[in-house]
Amino acid sequence: MRPHQDYLEEERLGKALDVRLLRRLLGYVRPYWGLFLVAFLLAAGITLVELSLPYITKTAIDYVLIPPWIVVRAESPPTSDAIKLDEGRFLVRAQELPRSIRESLEEEGKVEGRYFLIAPEDPGAEVVARHPDLFRTISAGYLVAETDLEGLSAGERLTLQAPAVRTLLYLVLGLLALLLVRFLLSYGQVYLLQYAGQRIMFDMRRTIFRHVLHLPMGFLDRQPVGRLVTRATNDVAAINEMYTQVVVYLVQDALMMAGVLAIMFRLNARLALLLLAFGPPLLVLTFWFRRHARDAYREARRKLARLNAYLAESISGMPIIQLFRQELRSFRAFQEINRGYYRAQMRSVIVYGIFGPTISVMRNLALALLIWYGGRGVLSGVFTLGALVAFTSYVRMLFQPLSDLSDKYNILQSAMAASERIFKLLDEKEEPTGSRPLPTLRGEIEFKDVWFAYHDEDWVLKGISFHIAPGERVALVGPTGSGKSTIVNLLFGFYRPQRGKILVDGHDISELDLAQLRRKLAVVPQDAFLFSGNVEENIRLWQEKLSLDGVRRAAEAAGVHGVVKRLPEGYSTDVRERGGRLSVGERQLLSIARAVAADPKLIVLDEATANVDSHTEAQVQEALERLMAGRTALAIAHRLSTIRNVDRVLVLSEGRLVEEGTVEELLAKKGLFWALWQLQFASLSPAEGADS
Ligand code: ATP
Ligand code: MG
Repeated sequence: MRPHQDYLEEERLGKALDVRLLRRLLGYVRPYWGLFLVAFLLAAGITLVELSLPYITKTAIDYVLIPPWIVVRAESPPTSDAIKLDEGRFLVRAQELPRSIRESLEEEGKVEGRYFLIAPEDPGAEVVARHPDLFRTISAGYLVAETDLEGLSAGERLTLQAPAVRTLLYLVLGLLALLLVRFLLSYGQVYLLQYAGQRIMFDMRRTIFRHVLHLPMGFLDRQPVGRLVTRATNDVAAINEMYTQVVVYLVQDALMMAGVLAIMFRLNARLALLLLAFGPPLLVLTFWFRRHARDAYREARRKLARLNAYLAESISGMPIIQLFRQELRSFRAFQEINRGYYRAQMRSVIVYGIFGPTISVMRNLALALLIWYGGRGVLSGVFTLGALVAFTSYVRMLFQPLSDLSDKYNILQSAMAASERIFKLLDEKEEPTGSRPLPTLRGEIEFKDVWFAYHDEDWVLKGISFHIAPGERVALVGPTGSGKSTIVNLLFGFYRPQRGKILVDGHDISELDLAQLRRKLAVVPQDAFLFSGNVEENIRLWQEKLSLDGVRRAAEAAGVHGVVKRLPEGYSTDVRERGGRLSVGERQLLSIARAVAADPKLIVLDEATANVDSHTEAQVQEALERLMAGRTALAIAHRLSTIRNVDRVLVLSEGRLVEEGTVEELLAKKGLFWALWQLQFASLSPAEGADS
């Protein structure tokens, strides 16, 4: 069936990352490029802050928490600010000593442990006074070995190290300041991205709807409504996610990884190289993930499209399914499709389930390696404790973007699929329209050898020619499916004939400005469509000049006034979605009132009285008489009783005009019209038949 196939169209999916699509998507970013630029700059700022955070911890450990001074034995001062203690012994700040020198000194056993140096003006001097035997007085202050402090109370030790405590406080304040900066930068970034994203979505929805408004009926016919709705809502949202959650963050992640690697190499090149060994397996894993995630995603989308199609079809056909007692069969078919979708989703779950934890295992392996290798480095003194702690943070930061990658990839994939569908819709050609204006309409219609098919060569109209003079009233009759409504569709320019010409007032309608043409015609269509809103709005239909009085007069003329008055809120009654609270006949009457209100020169009635009872029909008939007076009218009718007062009848059969003339002429001819007439009036009550 048709709708089914249409849903299946969604199965055609392109590449996960398509440069052509990206370039087009970029077009929507252009107006907001400034915002994105700022977001990128903020990303760089955030990266810098993130990278500096572990460095603060490192500084706190290496410069504050570990006693800063060491005593080394050497011939000459090992650093420029070394303080000479005795002959051959120097007090040195551990951090000042180049690593290579410290390593060789330690290997030779020339380092004597860690010391604190308390300046005479420090608060610690008072503790020194209380324990004079523990400290050695030198020119720079009082010296004490780390190991000699064990006898002191916690309070005394804190006093002794007041400068270190103060430095620690500064570091913590610095840390808080950085966190605040980070918060502000992130806030700004999220705000900018979301703002730009919302603007882009706003623009895209506008573009899509404006485009749909101008699409030819021939295209819209083939579209399930749900699909077009999805284009303008879900698909746009999927693209938005890409802008707000992927684009800038991918760059930020790349910056972060580059920064982390640079710092790692600076801190310890060998350790950094060792960690780089994780690169190749990670790359392989990522490629594996990419391929399987894409396949799983496509499979899932295919199955989802099938599920959607089946659900949509079943729900709209539910009365039929229930009437024919097909519930069980329908349920079984649904189960099959449902299971397929479930399996496809599970496949995707497994792929993601493998990727995330594997990355996490790798990260923990890297940490283990770090603790082993780095810990040994700390023990052997080639590596500071602070650097080791900082390294663990950096390893986490290095792996984080990788674990986030799967989510980003998913978003990117959906966005690509969505943009492909959106662009396909936007690439549909708009309804062609001429530009010749039509200031006043006389109401003359001419069809000249018109051939038309909705599809290929399935001719629905086969060489139709007729002429309707201004002010003439013509009825179009013929069996179901003979092409009556199609003629109306062509007259309104909803479709273009493949061959032949349609002239209005002598102008080919393909050259006319369609909008102007349509404004001057009014149609009472076969299936009356009401918009959500109240009765008054539905009759007025965007004609702002029309007063409520005018609306009422139109309703009276159409014989619908009585019906409206019976509604709970009269003209203000909400008709609900598609006129759900009105009967089919009532809807049709409203639709006639609408045509009356429009006051057109040329009016087309497609089965205007098909769904009303005989009494109402008589009423409507009268209304139509008044409506048609002085206008050109083309009335399509199944019930031949409604066409007694027309000037001429066109009889259509299988897309050809087979008879033409007044009712009397055609009856006398005893052709198709006569046969139809006989059929209808034979089935009516004798009374009704008699008065014809
Ligand atoms: P009825 O009296 O039942 O309203 P009609 O004379 O108005 O019939 P049309 O609606 O013009 O008939 O349809 C003529 C033929 O064109 C039918 O065979 C129908 O199946 C086909 N047709 C109508 N609309 C479409 C469409 N949108 N796409 C494809 N085929 C269509
Ligand atoms: Mg029809």
